[in-house]
Amino acid sequence: MASREVRPEPSRVNILDFSAGAGSVGFIAGPCSVESEEQLMSSARAVKAAGATGLRGGAFKPRTSPYSFQGMKEEGLKLLAAAREETGLAVFTEVMGTADVDLVASYADVLQVGARNMQNYRLLEAVGQSGKPVLLKRGASATMDEFLLAAEYILNEGNEHVMLCERGIRTFESHTRFTLPLASVPYLHRRTHLPVIIDPSHGTGHTYMVHDMSVAAVAAGADGIILEVHPDPPNALSDGYQSQTFDEFSRTMGRCKKVLAALQEDA
Ligand code: PEP
Ligand code: MN
Repeated sequence: MASREVRPEPSRVNILDFSAGAGSVGFIAGPCSVESEEQLMSSARAVKAAGATGLRGGAFKPRTSPYSFQGMKEEGLKLLAAAREETGLAVFTEVMGTADVDLVASYADVLQVGARNMQNYRLLEAVGQSGKPVLLKRGASATMDEFLLAAEYILNEGNEHVMLCERGIRTFESHTRFTLPLASVPYLHRRTHLPVIIDPSHGTGHTYMVHDMSVAAVAAGADGIILEVHPDPPNALSDGYQSQTFDEFSRTMGRCKKVLAALQEDA
């Protein structure tokens, strides 16, 4: 169902002012984790002012260590919903297990399935049944066939609103946290009609690389990017080393919009 052979025209996902696919490029930004009202609201206002149409923020966090911050859970979801009320941004947040799907879906606009859960087939079916748009992240060791078949589990439940997110893969290389293959954009566009979103934050793991890889993703034809932005990255409770400040994000947005305008002029 994800295949171009089944549906030759690119599909688009629309939620509030957010739009990705078939010529629309969506910009999603916000903190890795929701940490407090002040942290989330200031981030939401800043990314909105810079031109984002989606707000990201984890309330349920899949942390490598059980001793790391696990997220604010429902309190975090409430803050995300409040941020949507004020800014109009579409809320993207992760759901980690089937037991949480109804709860997360009652607050979020888009359910994020994280890299670690890309092959959690029961979860894929449950988010499919929720009817909510889904951002499916590529597993760090998943092949493209496995990624596309994971999307198929969601589509098979009658949910057409699926976006694929390339967030980097595990390789022998260690100069970046993951290796971010931008060739995934033309490759996936050839195989599937689904929108393709790039995550340069997790894909590189270094704030200084995020700007250039964001611009490159847009130039490569991505249907959207998702970026981690924090009011005070050095003191973030997760992923501060790959988070942009508000000013850095604003500069990246400006550059991406210029590239988009140049591409559209050429088309
Ligand atoms: C995240 O978006 O903060 C996250 C945990 O991403 P991933 O599932 O790609 O590691
Ligand atoms: Mn993160």
